[in-house]
Amino acid sequence: MIPLSVPNLTGNERKYLNQCIDTTFISSVGEFVTRLEEMSAEICGAKKAVATSSGTTGLHLALMGCGVKRDDLVIIPTFTFIATANAVSHCGAVPWLMDISKDSWTMDPEQVEREIEANTMWTGESLIHKGSGRRIAALMPVYTLGTIPDMDRFREIADRYRIPLIADAAAALGATYNGKNLGELADLTVISMNGNKMVTAGGGGVIVGQDKALLSKLKHLSSTARVSAEYDHDMIGYNYRMTNIQAAVGCAQLERVEEFVARKKEIRKFYNEAFDRWNGITLFPTPPEMESACWFSGIVLEHGGLESVRDIIAKMRDRGIECRSFWKPVHLQLPYQNAIRAESFKVADGLWDRIVTLPCSTGITDEELDMVVRAIKEAL
Ligand SMILES: *Cc1c(COP(=O)(O)O)cnc(C)c1O
Repeated sequence: MIPLSVPNLTGNERKYLNQCIDTTFISSVGEFVTRLEEMSAEICGAKKAVATSSGTTGLHLALMGCGVKRDDLVIIPTFTFIATANAVSHCGAVPWLMDISKDSWTMDPEQVEREIEANTMWTGESLIHKGSGRRIAALMPVYTLGTIPDMDRFREIADRYRIPLIADAAAALGATYNGKNLGELADLTVISMNGNKMVTAGGGGVIVGQDKALLSKLKHLSSTARVSAEYDHDMIGYNYRMTNIQAAVGCAQLERVEEFVARKKEIRKFYNEAFDRWNGITLFPTPPEMESACWFSGIVLEHGGLESVRDIIAKMRDRGIECRSFWKPVHLQLPYQNAIRAESFKVADGLWDRIVTLPCSTGITDEELDMVVRAIKEAL
């Protein structure tokens, strides 16, 4: 079986895990947690990094750190993994969903501007959504498939409307934008280290940014807001820490991030060349001006919806190859029927049920890539 995406654990993972066990440092204190934070900050060009138990808890902390509170609105794209919206909900806030751009699958800045312009007003210091009376508390683009959207434009929008800019960069470690690194583009940027992301810690996340004081506050919040060894806590905190075991795996992975990103890019190129101008297929967007981390690769069926996607997946499974459909947009999800919506989701609606993701583990061989391409062409 050629799997869709499995971790590549042929580095120092085993050695570092053994070190955890030998030293008994398996829990939330340990040298690997510190090392993982230092390595992440360095790789992302950030001043500081805070390790968390998952990408989702990292997003929750980042939103809280930027002042998102109960009943607020947070602007996010509808085409994302549901965790983006869930982190907003965990703050008691509500997502304001936007469509994506056709050429990058990331949040459409023009629609965001139009929607804010038409639907908000200033009340004192707050930007209020006229229809719901809710305060706009943050703008949170998603780096879809590791591709960074037009962050200069989002920075400008965030500054103009005086709202914090948070990036859901869950699968974008290794991406850059106009020569800028991940840590320099938003106020806070969150990476996931879940099993299938660019690098994995088994599970986990990292928040990076330039504001050391803010990140220290998030570290405090993530570790039960403890101020002394005498069980003294100064606020209602969370247990969102990463363990040393997770960090041991994460450190071994971070040592190889460049190699992983390079392979992911090769895989994208391989599929895009193989299926270029192939009848009935369009390609995953790889905007040349953006250095995407190319987290996942695959194809888009020109015709047919989820039925055709399921059909291809079944045919591929029969040939021993694992493929999958991709994110169902947030506005179609049962728990988000109450979310605030942009006027249209034309791009997301016309896209999501035609996507087939193809095997893209960094350990995949060129022969296996060839087999996948041949099998897809037969299946079609
Ligand atoms: C994976 C992912 C998350 C959540 O990360 P976890 O570590 O699984 O909690 C959030 N947003 C996006 C876009 C993701 O792909």
